[in-house]
Amino acid sequence: MKIDVLTIFPEFFGQVFDFGIIRRAKLAGIVEINVHDIREFAADKHRMTDDRPFGGGDGMVMKPEPIFAAVEHLTGAAERAEYPAATRVVMLSPQGRPLSQQIVRELAEDAVQIVIICGRYEGVDERVNDALVTDEISIGDYVLSGGEPAAVVLTDAIVRLLPEALGSETSAENDSFSNGLLDCPHYTRPAEFRGMKVPEVLLSGDHAEIEKWRREMAMQKTKKVRPDLLEGENG
Ligand code: SAM
Repeated sequence: MKIDVLTIFPEFFGQVFDFGIIRRAKLAGIVEINVHDIREFAADKHRMTDDRPFGGGDGMVMKPEPIFAAVEHLTGAAERAEYPAATRVVMLSPQGRPLSQQIVRELAEDAVQIVIICGRYEGVDERVNDALVTDEISIGDYVLSGGEPAAVVLTDAIVRLLPEALGSETSAENDSFSNGLLDCPHYTRPAEFRGMKVPEVLLSGDHAEIEKWRREMAMQKTKKVRPDLLEGENG
């Protein structure tokens, strides 16, 4: 998979994709991640990427021309209808579909190239959404000052689901949301720490009982913290 991030602050990403699973996935050739400076696609002398809003009001709006030029350069297409198959262009926005593990899985399974647009200021000229964007995604009901942190969240969540990205020692199978539940609690050595003991069943070696206990704990936690996840299950 190829992930291209469009931003006016490329330095923001520094080494953020150079750790753990993402780093391994890059080195193994599972994913290629490139960060592009939108400014480089601005044709005017001052490389302007934002301007005042039509209709007045506070703040600035990101201009369409450099973003159209960047997306065209990266996808080879001037509009959504002409993208190569399996190309997705994501606009990060608080007005988008709330990101979920299901959306992450869909992108990880279906996309070959994902272009991620990071907004700033009041947001991006709406014509970018109209002509270029395939998916408008929000990472939650709050407003960030820019799309960059959201791009890191989205990229991380997608890359760990790419085939072979997790390696043999980890699995996404029992992660929260994978089977409609939150994950169960986890423990490691020592078996007793400051008087707090690891649940006996985990030391028993009885794998069937351990599985049962994990499922029960996942269910209890989900009921307590996220009962909404169980609504579909109960009818
Ligand atoms: N005026 C916009 C609104 O109220 O919908 C908010 C603009 S916000 C200050 C600037 C940029 O941050 C957005 O264009 C978007 O790229 C990013 N952003 C802010 N909150 C976000 C969220 N919850 N999810 C994804 N991106 C977000």
